[in-house]
Amino acid sequence: MLTSDLLRAGPGVRLADIDPRGTPGVTSRKDPKQWSRVEVSLIGAELASHQEMLYADAKAGSDPRRVLLVLQAMDCGGKDGTVKNVVGQFDPLGLRIVSFGAPTKEELAHPFLWRIKNALPPAGYVGVFNRSHYEDVLIVRVHDLVPRRVWARRYDTINRFEAELVGEGYTLVKVMLHISKEEQRKRLADRLSDPTKHWKYNPGDIDERGYWDDYQEAYQAVLDRCSTEAAPWYVVPADRKWYRNYAVAALLREAFEGLNLKYPKADFDLKNEVKRLEASM
Ligand code: ATP
Ligand code: MG
Repeated sequence: MLTSDLLRAGPGVRLADIDPRGTPGVTSRKDPKQWSRVEVSLIGAELASHQEMLYADAKAGSDPRRVLLVLQAMDCGGKDGTVKNVVGQFDPLGLRIVSFGAPTKEELAHPFLWRIKNALPPAGYVGVFNRSHYEDVLIVRVHDLVPRRVWARRYDTINRFEAELVGEGYTLVKVMLHISKEEQRKRLADRLSDPTKHWKYNPGDIDERGYWDDYQEAYQAVLDRCSTEAAPWYVVPADRKWYRNYAVAALLREAFEGLNLKYPKADFDLKNEVKRLEASM
């Protein structure tokens, strides 16, 4: 079965029923970490070749297609690790990675999608959003950073926006890395006990942790309202990093396979060019 079918957030999906330690589609292995490392690097080679075709095709003509990976997770959910281990296998030349933190003053003066639109990948590129416009219905909803009636309208706005993107040639791969509260505690404890990880520790994360249930509810609303036909959400169980890396790589591979990419045909006379090269020696 396709990973995308196993992990797609379909109608009636309950986040609370998805085991963050689960490994859908992967049967038990003797050494799952090693298996995943090998598998992810094999998939990585395929991803790089798809990416090259995407890039070449956009360069050669007017192919508007591009792929956008949207990553969302609770703090310590593994977004950065996913970028490093999975996204890191793409050619940086055709890659655009953007992280979204708390909006700046300038960003706040614009509609919430303004900074998102400015960060979209050009045709031929793979884009990655490390957090995204969904923060505007997650942290913003949990803390009522804008009035309820304002954030409540955003689900439909987001759906319209994403449908437009898909119409313009975007393939959206929206991934929620789903960790348990206990796993977050462990990862926070790890950061505290290792001086080389202190830079990753943010005291505010403990405050947000206090709103765990509210965040789960906000994520549930995202899955209910914004997992559309055009741009579905995928929930990746992420307590096990080896599974997370494998699943995101597999989802990207399936998205690329759906594009049926091919190298563009040469727009020059091949025989003639070979002759010209010979004659030039
Ligand atoms: P990470 O994404 O791994 O937490 P970080 O801690 O280095 O990375 P920050 O620059 O602190 O990143 O930004 C992340 C914080 O910004 C998160 O707490 C997130 O909820 C918040 N944030 C992102 N978008 C918005 C938004 N639209 N409104 C308010 N807060 C936001
Ligand atoms: Mg943070």
